[in-house]
This record gives sequence, C-alpha cells and structure tokens, in this order.
Amino acid sequence: MRIGEVTMKEFEKSLKRSKTIIIPFGTVEAHGRHLPLNTDTLIIREVVKKAASIAKVYMAPPIQYGVCTSTGQHPGTIGITASTLRKLTRDIVRDAFDKGLRKFILISGHGGSLHVAAMKEAAETLTQELSGVRIAALSIYEILGKEADAVAETKNDSHAGEIETSLVLHLAPALVKGRSKEEYPKLPKPVVAKDKVRYWPGAVWGDPGKATAEKGEKVFNIMVQSVVSLVKRLDKLK
Ligand SMILES: [Zn+2]
Repeated sequence: MRIGEVTMKEFEKSLKRSKTIIIPFGTVEAHGRHLPLNTDTLIIREVVKKAASIAKVYMAPPIQYGVCTSTGQHPGTIGITASTLRKLTRDIVRDAFDKGLRKFILISGHGGSLHVAAMKEAAETLTQELSGVRIAALSIYEILGKEADAVAETKNDSHAGEIETSLVLHLAPALVKGRSKEEYPKLPKPVVAKDKVRYWPGAVWGDPGKATAEKGEKVFNIMVQSVVSLVKRLDKLK
C-alpha cells in the first residue's frame, strides 16, 4: 500500500489492520560513469514497493536526498547535511506517529556511514520520546547476509560495483550506460580528504563488468524477503 494513493478515510480504516510504515531513503549521488544519480533511490524504492505489498503495510514516498561524503565533490551529487536528515526523519516519524502509525522501518539504499548514523540517531531519540513506538533504522545492505554475498564474484564490492549495477540492470536496464572500469577508492583514511575526486576519480567501488540482470534479480528478491522478515520481526515485538 502506498500511502500517497489512499484517501484519509481509507487511511483511518487501514490503521485497524496495520500500524506499520516503511520509509525508503535514497540519494542523488554519482554512481560511476554508467549508473544514474538516482541509483540508491531506485533500488530501495522498488524493494520497498514489493515488500510492502507482500507484507500489507504502508510504504511512504522515498526521501530522495541523503548525506554523501565520499562522493560529495563528484559531478551530479546533491547531498544534504546529517543534521538536516536527522530533523527530516524526526519530523516525518513524529507526524506519522501522531496520525496513528506505531511501527517504522527506516531503510536506506545508500550505505554511507554518516547517512545511516543520522537515521539511527534520529531513531534512538524518537524511541525515547514516543511512547509505544517501534523503529528499525538501517541500510538494506546490513541485513542481506551470506546469501547475497554469494551472488557477487567481486570481493569487497560496494558503490556502483557488481551488485548495484546488477540491480539497475534488472530494474531499469535503459538507465545503465555501458560499464565503468573496475576501481576501488584510495581515500587516505582516517584523514578526511578535501578533494575526494583526486582519490576516487571514477566513483566506483568494485567491478561493474561482472554485473548481470540475473544477479540483480537474485539480489532484489533477497532484499525483498529480508524486508518482509523485518516487518514480521517488528510485528512480534510488543
Ligand atoms: Zn549506491
């Protein structure tokens, strides 16, 4: 059920059946020379759409902007700060709670550490403030486990690599423009680099050359099942 597509009456009625909503978090972020800036949002939006229809819970419209640090200077990345993301998350969850929703899955298609930390920090304070609320805050990549790892041939695959490219090949093949070459960031961590592009020119982490639509379909189905199980786990918690 997509929350934007029901009327206020239907919303009121449906609260008797379920008080759970899944909120997808994405980005506008450089994903190599071959994937669209919308990659994270596209993937998580499609996963949540399918999972929400199987689990019969609400899906919120995606939060399209996220915190992007490593790709912050790359062409096309349009990011927001962690404090904005925390505030936005707080406002949305608080208002949805006021309208009767009680269980929240805040799930990101972007695995950036500051981004996911902002979501988790908002979830921590909201859990203390709102009586009876249950919130899970995570990146989808946190709950995939060995089954998904087994699909990728590339070790240490991540941003715009084999898995993300496979997923976009499965979900929206027309948006994949060839393949970027295999690359891994050489950021001088723990030193924070000002010019990230110098250390990571292609914005690829992994080997997109190994991506296929079939692998994308497999990982997509694992992602959907992982989100459905999380809904069930959240439902069992009192
Ligand atoms: Zn991504």
